Amino acid sequence: MKKMNYQSQDWIKLLQETDLFLYGLIRGTILLTPRSQKIWSLLIAKFDEQFVQLGIENVNFPALIPMTQIEKETKNFTSFSTEMLTITQVGTKKLDKANWLVLRPTSEVIFSHYFHNKIRSYRDLPILINQWTNVWRWEKNTYPFLRTNEFFWQEGHGVFQNRKAITDFFPKINKCYQTILEKTCLIPTIFGEKSKMETFAGAIKTWTHETLLPDGQFLQLATTHDLGKQFSQIFQINFLNEKNQKSLVEQSSWGLSTRVLAAIFLTHADEKGLILPPQIADQQIWILPLKSNDHSQIMQWCQEMVEKLKTHQYRVKLINMQEKSLGSWIYKWEKSGIPIRIEIGKEELKNNMITYSVRATNQKSKMKFDLFLKSLPIIISKIEETMKTKAKSRLNNSYKKITDFLKYAQIPEKNQAYLVNFCGQQKCEKEIQVKTKTTSRVVMEKLEKTEKCFHCQSTPAFKTIFGRSY
Ligand SMILES: [Zn+2]
Repeated sequence: MKKMNYQSQDWIKLLQETDLFLYGLIRGTILLTPRSQKIWSLLIAKFDEQFVQLGIENVNFPALIPMTQIEKETKNFTSFSTEMLTITQVGTKKLDKANWLVLRPTSEVIFSHYFHNKIRSYRDLPILINQWTNVWRWEKNTYPFLRTNEFFWQEGHGVFQNRKAITDFFPKINKCYQTILEKTCLIPTIFGEKSKMETFAGAIKTWTHETLLPDGQFLQLATTHDLGKQFSQIFQINFLNEKNQKSLVEQSSWGLSTRVLAAIFLTHADEKGLILPPQIADQQIWILPLKSNDHSQIMQWCQEMVEKLKTHQYRVKLINMQEKSLGSWIYKWEKSGIPIRIEIGKEELKNNMITYSVRATNQKSKMKFDLFLKSLPIIISKIEETMKTKAKSRLNNSYKKITDFLKYAQIPEKNQAYLVNFCGQQKCEKEIQVKTKTTSRVVMEKLEKTEKCFHCQSTPAFKTIFGRSY
C-alpha cells in the first residue's frame, strides 16, 4: 500500500475491509459500524470525563429548527445557508414558507432558546452544556469520515455573566481538546486563533486545533468560539446582574466531530494498514491460539488470559483460528491496526511463555503472561510514545519559513506548513487564497512593528501558518 491519501481507492478500500464504515443510501453519508462507533464511544467517554471536571453537563435537543428562527441567525451572519437541508412538506401537505423546518447544521438557535428560558439572574450563571449528536451540511465533495453530509459531533454551549468569566473559561476548554487530541489520539496539533476570514460566522473570535495530515493538508479538529453578545442580542438572553440591572449574557460554543476519526486513521497508518492509538482502539489485544496437538490445553490457557485481561479492563478478542490461516489472521491484525497480538502454540505452552507482537513498533517479544499483564501499562505507554514521536517529527519537519510572497506563490504543491508574517486582514487573505489556493490555518502571535505582512506589506503582522486545508 502506498502512502495514504484520503481520496485514494486503496485508502477507502482499507477502511471498508477493516469494517470501519459502509456507504449509506444517500450520497455522502456513511454508516458507523460497531468498530468505528466503539472508537467514537471511547473518545466520547474521554471527553465526558473531562467535561464533568469543567462543570459541563450533557443534554439532548431536537434536530429540527424552525426556518424563521435560523433566519434570524443567517440574516445577521453569512452562515450555512447553502448547505442547509430544508423541510418544505409534511406528508402530502406543502408547508407555508413561514413553517419550513431546517435540519440543524449547528445548534446555536435551540441552545439560545434554552438559555432564554432558563436564565433569570446572575445566580443562574454560568451554564455549560453539551450534546453528542448528529448535524447535516450538504457538501459538494464528500469522503468517508473526513467530510460527510451527515456527521456526528459534540457541541458545547456556555453562557457567562461577564467578559472575565468567559475569558477564564477559554483556556480550560482549549486545554481539554489539546490534551485528548495529543495524549489519547496521539495527534500533534497546532493551536491558535483563526484569522477574520476563517472565524466562525457570528463569532468575535475562534480558536482552532489543527493538524497537518501526511499528504500535507491541514485538518481542523476542534474549534472554540467566543460569540460575545451577538447571539444573546438576537435571541434576547437576558439576566438580572448583581446591581439588579438587565444584562445580556456572554456566549461561547466549542465542538469536535467524527472528522477526528479520519485524522486518527490517516495520521498513524503505515504501508501495512491502520495503527490505532491503544486508549481508543476498539480492540487492544488479539489472542491467536496456534494449531497443535495440545489444542485443548492451549485453548484453556487462552481463555484464562482473556478473563484476566478483561478483569483489568483491556479490550481483548480470542481469535477463532478455524476461519482462516495464521498468515491471514496476522495480515488482518496488521491491517486493522490492533495494538497488540499474542500467539500461543506448543512452544509457548511448554515454556510457559507468551509471544506478543506490537503493531506500532513491529517488535516481537516473549514473556511470562503474569509479567506481561503487569507490564501492559508500560508496553502501552511505549506504544503511545512511539506513535506520538513519529507523528510529531513529521509535523516538525514540515514547517517552512516563507518571507517572499512571489516565491510562495510559485511553490507547486504547497503540501507543508508555511510559516509567514501576515496582516490578518480579510481582503488580503482573499487575494492570497485566489492566487495560491491556500488560507491561513492558525494565527500564532503578534509580531514587532518592524515585521510586515508577506503579501500586502502592511503592519501589524502576525506569525501565521498558511497551507492547504480539507
Ligand atoms: Zn496582508
